[in-house]
Formats: sequence, C-alpha cells, structure tokens
Amino acid sequence: MLTLALSKGRIFDDTLPLLARAGITVAEDPESTRKLILRTNRDDLRVVLVRASDVPTYVRYGGADFGVAGLDVLLEADATLGGDGLYRPLDLRIARCRLSVATRGDFDYAQRVRQGARLRVATKYVHLAREHFAAKGVHVDLVKLYGSMELAPLIGMADAIVDLVSSGGTLKANGLVEVERIMDISSRLIVNQASYKTRSTQLRPLVDALRAAVDATREDAA
Ligand code: ATP
Ligand code: MG
Repeated sequence: MLTLALSKGRIFDDTLPLLARAGITVAEDPESTRKLILRTNRDDLRVVLVRASDVPTYVRYGGADFGVAGLDVLLEADATLGGDGLYRPLDLRIARCRLSVATRGDFDYAQRVRQGARLRVATKYVHLAREHFAAKGVHVDLVKLYGSMELAPLIGMADAIVDLVSSGGTLKANGLVEVERIMDISSRLIVNQASYKTRSTQLRPLVDALRAAVDATREDAA
C-alpha cells in the first residue's frame, strides 16, 4: 500500500485533476467527510489528509511515501528537518503564487533599506525571510506569526511582512503594497527517499504518470 499526503483546500483541489489524468480518483471528498485516510480507486494507494505545513514531516518520517507541498512550506521545512530524506522529483506547477515583501502604502521601503534602517518584519516564513534579508544585508527583527500577517503593519506591530501573494487582492484590501518579490512558488511532489528505493516498482510509474499529467496540462494551456 502506498500513502500519498495531501492537505485540504487548494493543494487537494489542484492535485485531483493531475491524479485523474494519471487514472487515479479519490473515493471521498475531504470537505464532506471527517476521515483522515481516504481510499482511492486503486487498492494499492490511499491518501492521508494533513496540515499543509506537516506534509514534509509526514513524508520525511515515512508516515507517507509521497506528498504534495508548496515550495514555501518545503524550503521552510528544510531549515528545521534538514534537506535530507526527501526527493523532489517534480514541479507540479499548481498552487502558484510568489513570496514577497509587502509594506503599508505610505512606508518608503526602498529608502529605509538605503538608509540601513533596522526593520521589523512579521512572517510565517522566518527562515526564508532571514535568508532573504541577510543576502541583501538588511538588518531585521523577525516576528513569527501563524496567519493574518497583513494585520501587523496596519496596527504598527511591524514595518513589513513576508507572505504569499497571488492576485494581490488581500494586500490591496488592506492598504498594503508588494515592494519586493523574493521567489516564485508552486507545489512540488516530494518522495520519501527510502520508499523511492524500496518501493520503486510501485512509485516510479506513479511519478512518471504525474509528470506526464503535468506536461499534458501545460500543452492544454499553450
Ligand atoms: P495551514 O492552514 O496549515 O496553515 P496554509 O494556510 O498554508 O496551511 P493553504 O492556504 O491551503 O494552507 O496553502 C497551501 C499552499 O498553497 C501554500 O503552502 C502555498 O504553496 C500555496 N498557496 C497559498 N496561498 C496561495 C495563493 N493565494 N495562491 C496560490 N497558491 C497559494
Ligand atoms: Mg492559507
């Protein structure tokens, strides 16, 4: 039995069409069941539902053989789990967005950076943010938050946030502007390294089928 770790919401919804192209359907809808283990149309494959930020942990420790994780979550997890134990064979090109710095519209970020000011930055992505500002030589005090990052600059708790942006609608609705793009984000297939070796006859065809599904989706879009 192979176990695939997915998170509810965007990742589950965007992974389903790729699975379908690979001939796999999930038997239950996560929004209408409380089950955490879902059957598929294949007897040798099941899906487990975990928090988005827990997917690398489940795969790393063999709780799942493979999974789908945002690059944001994956790189942030590398800082705590270490990069070992996880293969990253495939960019699934789903849940695409970018990791950016945003500030209030009336905050002159470029000037403050030029002045060498020390900035207070609120984010869920403390490791990625620390690396980004260290590479720029900007001194920052990082404030770890778990959600609603947009609030922090509005109430004067931070000068800037580092957060995911897609349309920019949430920033705009809160009077914030994107002042720097740190990296493009999409979701990746990650595979437990030991599983990839010991269960390669089952896993490799699945990875290949998903790669073909990603390519076919790209051709449709072109
Ligand atoms: P949790 O609820 O466990 O804190 P989460 O809020 O990060 O998790 P989701 O919002 O489902 O969970 O996000 C899962 C992944 O989808 C993120 O890690 C990121 O890679 C991607 N993502 C997040 N926000 C967006 C967005 N606005 N547009 C496109 N992709 C996004
Ligand atoms: Mg979210």
